[in-house]
Amino acid sequence: MMTIPEDQQRNYEIFRDCLSTALIEKISQPEPKTKRKFRSKKHSTGSPVQSRNATTTPHLGVDAKAQTEAKAQIEAEVEADPDLSNADSLADFADYIAAETFPALPAELKTLDYYSYVKDTDLQSRYALPLTGFDTPLLLPSLDPSVADSLSAYAITSEPTQGVDEFLAPILTSYLTSLSTPPPAPRATLREAEGCELCGRDWINLSYHHLIPRYVHAKAVRRGWHREEDLQNVAWLCGACHRFVHRFAGHEELARKYYTVELLMEEEGVKRWVDWVGRLRWKGR
Ligand SMILES: [Zn+2]
Ligand SMILES: [Zn+2]
Repeated sequence: MMTIPEDQQRNYEIFRDCLSTALIEKISQPEPKTKRKFRSKKHSTGSPVQSRNATTTPHLGVDAKAQTEAKAQIEAEVEADPDLSNADSLADFADYIAAETFPALPAELKTLDYYSYVKDTDLQSRYALPLTGFDTPLLLPSLDPSVADSLSAYAITSEPTQGVDEFLAPILTSYLTSLSTPPPAPRATLREAEGCELCGRDWINLSYHHLIPRYVHAKAVRRGWHREEDLQNVAWLCGACHRFVHRFAGHEELARKYYTVELLMEEEGVKRWVDWVGRLRWKGR
């Protein structure tokens, strides 16, 4: 694995955040049932948030013998192949994919910062956002094939509909979007957020989540759910938790039932998520 030069370290960490957010999202989504061996393993172990119950919950309609055999097979496979629903394995995997992919980016994107990005309109049009699967090979012409192999071995990508190019395009887009976003407000304005207010990870980029989503602000006031002055309440969240919250509940449900971090944390599903994602640590952290 290549080491990342000092002057690229900050961008590398942003890139790895974007990549791990996409991986976490992919892995925590329920997989459709297929007969492929790898998928069947993924399906049986379930999404990370459910995985702890998976082995003790009997599958309905499956007789006991078949169940025991299936379980033995899963255990054998898991042993042979690290299970990405395990936080340590996922962190290692994200680290590995990021470290293989980032060095293949064009030099100008590896050290780019906000101030040079906003000044350089040529560069902005060269990398017009959002990037698509067609752009990926242009940005990463020398990407090591082992990246594509690893992603497909773990069923993160599935050719031909979602190959490595399609998988990486939104990651490259969110990477460039982060670079084009003004630096965060001074620490003082981050309320007391020392880290993500859900998972507590404190070295990761945070973005703010409107606890009452802006989309329903007008309605929330009109219907008397909230006072005008509460509309700007935010929670500082890491990318993975932020996306999770929006998958967990729609705008209106967030506004009515989950308008504080505490209310979110009362939900079993949120607690399991936070417990799982909070254990994702990169090497050296
Ligand atoms: Zn978080
Ligand atoms: Zn949000």
